[in-house]
Amino acid sequence: MNYENKNKAKTNPIKANLKHGLVKMKTIISLLLIIALVNQARCDVNEPSAQKPKDPNDTKTARPEHKHPAFTERIEERAKMVATQITSRNVKDSNVLKAMRTVPRHSFVQHPIKNVWNSNLTRAYRDHPLPIGFEQTISQPYIVAFMTEAMKLKPDSRVFEIGTGSGYQAAVCAELAAEVYTIEIVEPLAKRAEKLLKELGYKNVFVKAGDAYFGWPGKAPFDAIIGTAAAERIPEPLIEQLKPGGRMILPYENSLGFQYLVLVTKDDKGKLHKKNVMPVRFVPMTGEVQKKQK
Ligand code: SAH
Repeated sequence: MNYENKNKAKTNPIKANLKHGLVKMKTIISLLLIIALVNQARCDVNEPSAQKPKDPNDTKTARPEHKHPAFTERIEERAKMVATQITSRNVKDSNVLKAMRTVPRHSFVQHPIKNVWNSNLTRAYRDHPLPIGFEQTISQPYIVAFMTEAMKLKPDSRVFEIGTGSGYQAAVCAELAAEVYTIEIVEPLAKRAEKLLKELGYKNVFVKAGDAYFGWPGKAPFDAIIGTAAAERIPEPLIEQLKPGGRMILPYENSLGFQYLVLVTKDDKGKLHKKNVMPVRFVPMTGEVQKKQK
């Protein structure tokens, strides 16, 4: 007997009905099971307790958006600024040059006094610092590029800045690094910079009003630290907050009043190495650093 015949011989109407009913029930049970599983999965997604915990080392933050119209304004002036003031003085890192060509410096030079604001606008891309109000200045483009290059930022770097000022240096760093934490001691400047950086789409810059002397302990350690106000000593908390292998660049003022940019590197064993890299002129760092050391 072949297989087909054997099956035929066994067929009887009662058994067939029973079998049919069983198959139907199995299908219904399977369907119910699938529905239950899908529902369970939905609940898992909605319930916070079932969400994966955030990896504290995950630094995938939002990138600058460049959607604001300012990015399409004065492109030629920026290109000229890079060619005549920056590459000509030997800043070579192509990512730094690209950032300097991208960030709309003219958006950062606004001043509360209208006439100064107007003249600042036309001078935004010139080879010198500019006033930004509250007796503070935005650094010369070349100095911004030089200091940024010195930090050797990588896409996953976390940066700390002393002195937000206009927010321009923070924006340049934000083009290269994952996150920039910046503190400004003059509160209205901090607020203005925070608002502007948000408007321009810099979601990876975090601004706080306060004394940068103490750093930002909750966000430390940092791969790089940049100081844009001159002090007679390197704030000790910042040395602590620099990662082994990290780089710090800041203006240091000696007892005769001469200022130098100092590059501080921390080796893998935590030892510091300091090098004077260029004479400069920055506004003073105020607050705790000016108090006499105990
Ligand atoms: N990085 C700025 C340049 C700002 S000039 C830019 O790109 O525009 C230096 C700034 O440091 C000033 O705004 C000044 O108010 C600020 N500053 C001085 N001492 C400070 C301190 N102890 N903590 C934070 N900011 C300070």
